[in-house]
Amino acid sequence: MSSEYFWVVLCKNHKFHKRENLFFEHKIPLVETDAIEPPPALNGGLNVRCDDCGQEYTYRSKDLLRAELELPASFTPHAAFQ
Ligand SMILES: [Zn+2]
Repeated sequence: MSSEYFWVVLCKNHKFHKRENLFFEHKIPLVETDAIEPPPALNGGLNVRCDDCGQEYTYRSKDLLRAELELPASFTPHAAFQ
């Protein structure tokens, strides 16, 4: 399993994801990146559906985080980045 950098957002459905661990933030990978690439420009908001709880929220450029994740087996980039 390889480790890759992704642009991620943190799911805003905290009630769902914090049931078991109060400090857990569910990361939703959007698109692959590397250690130095600047964040992609989002025109307005980006709607992202959570791959775990299924809720959709709108995210802005400032919500993008770079995270090192294990490549999810069934990963497809968010439609906005295809
Ligand atoms: Zn979620």
